[in-house]
Amino acid sequence: ATPSEEKDLVIIGGGVAGYVAAIKAGQEGLKVACIEKRGALGGTCLNVGCIPSKSLLNNSHLYHQILHDTKNRGIEVGDVKLNLAQMMKAKETSVSGLTKGIEFLFKKNNVEYIKGTGAFEDEHTIKVNLVDGGETSVRGKNILIATGSESTPFPGLEIDEKKVITSTGAIALTEVPKKMTVIGGGIIGLEMASVWSRLGSEVTVVEFLGQIGGPGMDNEVAKQSQKLLSKQGMKFKLNTKVVSGDASGEGVKLEVEAAKGGKAETIESDVVLVAIGRRPYTKGLNLESIGLETDTRGRLVIDSEYRTKLPHIRVVGDCTFGPMLAHKAEEEAVAAVEFITKGFGHVNYGAIPSVMYTHPEVAWVGANEQELKEQGVNYKVGSFPFSANSRAKTNLDSDGMVKFLADAETDRILGVHIIGPNAGEMIAEGTLALEYGASTEDIGRTCHAHPTLAEAFKEAAMNTYGKAVHY
Ligand code: FAD
Ligand code: NAD
Repeated sequence: ATPSEEKDLVIIGGGVAGYVAAIKAGQEGLKVACIEKRGALGGTCLNVGCIPSKSLLNNSHLYHQILHDTKNRGIEVGDVKLNLAQMMKAKETSVSGLTKGIEFLFKKNNVEYIKGTGAFEDEHTIKVNLVDGGETSVRGKNILIATGSESTPFPGLEIDEKKVITSTGAIALTEVPKKMTVIGGGIIGLEMASVWSRLGSEVTVVEFLGQIGGPGMDNEVAKQSQKLLSKQGMKFKLNTKVVSGDASGEGVKLEVEAAKGGKAETIESDVVLVAIGRRPYTKGLNLESIGLETDTRGRLVIDSEYRTKLPHIRVVGDCTFGPMLAHKAEEEAVAAVEFITKGFGHVNYGAIPSVMYTHPEVAWVGANEQELKEQGVNYKVGSFPFSANSRAKTNLDSDGMVKFLADAETDRILGVHIIGPNAGEMIAEGTLALEYGASTEDIGRTCHAHPTLAEAFKEAAMNTYGKAVHY
């Protein structure tokens, strides 16, 4: 193998964290190489995560709406049939277009793309087992680890991605299962449960905690979301733990019982989705050889400048601390490169939005009400229902609300929580408000176009300090 010239930056992993860092480094004039083993750029997010799941969420929503929500709108449709293979093809077209787009951006920004699996040979050298066979090695003045995460397995249930699946199997099923059970009512669980329930599966979600939505979701919003998803046909078993599973027969049997112990029950289904979280992925990097360690949760330990204890080796994205979100990974990637090129970089971890792409969507940024209570913060609440918003009413899509949490004395916005149509787009305004330290009155005094869903955002803010006009 011929070692290529020494790079300013070598990146291991071509997911959102890795590819964004590579492009940014290229833009800054660094000599950069990015090593990716899956044969396509974009990582979990583009290949088996954000993008394919949103394609299926969008198209399954359309299908469900055509089946159940057209007559009242004055649209009579004939026979509606699901062509699952075509729905999957549409998903693949979106994915491949986007991953190829990144290859183009790599060329445009002079990033060397090395297709293979990287492992540390020494503190500055990465040995790569090439996808097409053979080996090479590449040296970097700086190294960025961006190897991402993998789904957490459920002990005793072997994943075959057909009967016992992770999200990767859930975006690629070839037929609609009659009965599906989802272990874990977090974001993956609920997004995938939405897809398959809309396409005709009887879906039961088993969640250990007393509320759905995973960490971070406001209690009140989580309750509304559960109610609306139940109306769509999803069943929920909260405060329930899966004790064991058996996939040796035709379907899958799960033994479940109350989280605090109690009578056991067996749930039988055709397919079980394991969605109990994701864990950092650092396998095969040969970290031991250079003395780097992970914490008890498998995360690579870093300082505030993303440096490991070897300061030229930095880490960003899912394989280190913080929420496992693509946009968080992206922000960190840019900041880490800026630390290398300029000596400073910054990510505001207090203003990272979360979105659950169910229908209605759920989106939030900043603190939730239960956190403020726990912290003893003196806060005020203002909310506005979409049922009082003109655009939501004309769209016949008016479930949900916008809710502001603000400091009772200063009026500074502490958190924004939205459940409703287009919540995922609308949260950008909340994020901007938080980033700029806005008050609810700043929002209430900003002109919002009529008739838009965003007016609900403005009026919720107004309800925090006074009175909304339309409610
Ligand atoms: P990854 O995307 O996991 O990328 C890491 C890459 O490194 C992988 O491609 C891997 O092959 C490669 N790699 C690992 N080891 C090596 C090695 N030794 N050598 C070479 N390459 C290596 N987040 C959102 O913000 N919005 C969403 O809507 C959303 N939806 C999701 C849906 C699903 C079903 C899933 C599973 C996740 C979703 N996420 C979403 C989370 C998001 O995908 C991750 O937060 C994001 O991908 C993290 O980026 P990353 O670059 O850190 O890791
Ligand atoms: P999660 O942590 O959000 O949710 C897992 C859920 O499973 C939790 O509610 C937990 O209480 C429950 N659980 C754990 N063990 C259980 C058991 N034995 N029985 C029953 N319930 C159990 O994790 P996830 O939904 O798997 O998602 C993983 C990561 O991917 C998250 O960080 C998420 O942010 C990210 N993601 C984001 C999006 C998005 O932004 N739209 C979409 C998908 C995934």
